[in-house]
Amino acid sequence: MAGFKEHVKAFYFEVILSPYRCPQCQGPLRMTDTSKCSCACGNIFDPTLEFQKSACCGTKLVRRTYHYACSHCHEVVPSHYIFDERVFDKEYFREMMQEHRRRVRQEREEMKKFLAESRSGTLFLTEEPRLESLDGFVQDLEAFIQSQPHVPLDSGFEPKSIFNMDRYRSHILSCLPNQGVRFSDIAQVDENIRRDKAWRFITLVFMQNDRLIDLAQEGDNIWVQRVQNEAHA
Ligand SMILES: [Zn+2]
Ligand SMILES: [Zn+2]
Repeated sequence: MAGFKEHVKAFYFEVILSPYRCPQCQGPLRMTDTSKCSCACGNIFDPTLEFQKSACCGTKLVRRTYHYACSHCHEVVPSHYIFDERVFDKEYFREMMQEHRRRVRQEREEMKKFLAESRSGTLFLTEEPRLESLDGFVQDLEAFIQSQPHVPLDSGFEPKSIFNMDRYRSHILSCLPNQGVRFSDIAQVDENIRRDKAWRFITLVFMQNDRLIDLAQEGDNIWVQRVQNEAHA
């Protein structure tokens, strides 16, 4: 379970940081510690202080010992950059997901244009997958993140079925033909259909981030394809 939580956390930070760039060099940012994000240029800073504004006064935050506060009226403001399920902001995450996907779509469009202009070979998979087409996936993910505090980590509680991303990953790779496969045609691993779908999809999202596979919309389904050798792309 801890491993899965780490994955969800990594995904959460990727989404939350996706609209931002390093203020010094415009490079991409990574969350490297609690309240710290880093850029390859060596710039390390607190993203809450840098990017977040208070909802009350729309101004900069200040850091107190255990929380952040509005620098104008001193109201406590929960940070968007601390992965704490108790203050997980559903609406904000939803917004950031949309922004993240808009950005991915835009990058794909730019790549498409670039490849068309350079008269490169055929291009496929330019349509971004729509998470909504997977019945209830976003809700399932949100529900999962929100449900975690109810399972105390030290309680010895062992859910009957626990998510094992490595198992899903090898399963998907083992049944993924070269020409690709439809999301719905990947054999089920867990007996619970809804849960299996959510876990399968989460694994695919991480596999896409690792550049192992590509996901593309195909009608009401999602097409899953191995990433071709970069040299031929
Ligand atoms: Zn930088
Ligand atoms: Zn305020």
